Amino acid sequence: MKAVRVHEYGGAGNLRVDEVPVPDPGPGEVLVRIAFAGINFIDVYMREGIYKRSDTYAQSPPLTLGMEGAGFVEAVGDGVDDFELGDPVAYCIELGSYAEYAVVPAWKLVHVLDGVTLDVAAALQLQGSTAHYLSHSLFPLQAGESCLIHAGAGGLGQLLIQLATRIGATVFTTVGSPEKAEIARSLGAEHAILYRETDFAEAVLELTGGEGVDVVYDSVGKDTIRGSLKAVKRRGVVSNNGNASGPIGQLDPLELAEAGSVFFTRPHLADYIASAEERQARAYDLFQWYAAGELRVTIDRTLALSEARTAHELIEARQTKGKVVLAI
Ligand code: NDP
Repeated sequence: MKAVRVHEYGGAGNLRVDEVPVPDPGPGEVLVRIAFAGINFIDVYMREGIYKRSDTYAQSPPLTLGMEGAGFVEAVGDGVDDFELGDPVAYCIELGSYAEYAVVPAWKLVHVLDGVTLDVAAALQLQGSTAHYLSHSLFPLQAGESCLIHAGAGGLGQLLIQLATRIGATVFTTVGSPEKAEIARSLGAEHAILYRETDFAEAVLELTGGEGVDVVYDSVGKDTIRGSLKAVKRRGVVSNNGNASGPIGQLDPLELAEAGSVFFTRPHLADYIASAEERQARAYDLFQWYAAGELRVTIDRTLALSEARTAHELIEARQTKGKVVLAI
């Protein structure tokens, strides 16, 4: 089968299409014939080796990239009772989806519900589960509360805006262009701040009467984290849930005190879908909202497996507005 692999950590040019054997599912595992592999920023971190010392996302080259996929059950290992050949399934946080087939532990798979196409099912896995845990578990938003969501027109941002809005929270978001601001507003953001032209923290403080927001979901990292600490209210929560502009590096605990005794967390999705029950609950919420027409999923681009390099270059250059998938 064909698989997109990394033999050495580095830039998008290090992605190679290799011919490798189709893997066999062991006990408790399922062989999935991949229809769509989702592209996510975590794939860039994996490619660059940013997570090479991570226990949660342990890996080393040569590795097949891709942490999310949707497709059909091709074979099942011993002890797998919940899935049958041909079932449409989706999953995330298991390495190896940039390939024609992938072996996935059965507990990480979810059945794709009627009314959800496989490209959307893939899009709702990694970014969808993240939007769900950020708004429902990490900081369970309540109606009337306020949040600041960075990169509001990105794959994660678009879903998070919608989940926060359906709860009844007021959404502030940052975006890189007027076109992206329009997208964020159309999904429910009350204030879309053009951070290239405006100091977003000052803007949030001004719009909240100097108080700040209850929670900041910061997936941009290095470039935004200090502003995020400024934009959150006293004793609010700042979640640094991504590094799109690079890792934030050192953060002195005293900075949190000075920001108003702020609570800071750096979450991994893996810890919020740690059991089959938890990941299914999030996935089925998302599938149902989508099938009921209550959640919009933007597939920005569908590329071929051999175009994985282009897909990485596009997300790193901020050229996308929604989900990028590889059709396999
Ligand atoms: P997208 O590509 O869809 O969104 C990324 C956006 O971030 C860009 O479009 C851009 O929007 C903005 N951005 C700001 N600075 C930069 C920069 N220097 N380089 C590139 N982009 C930048 O990605 P996703 O929605 O998939 O992911 C967004 C973030 O969420 C990533 O950091 C990812 O790691 C994180 N994430 C974290 C998870 C977790 O559990 N911790 C799980 C899933 C995602 P603009 O043009 O508006 O600035």
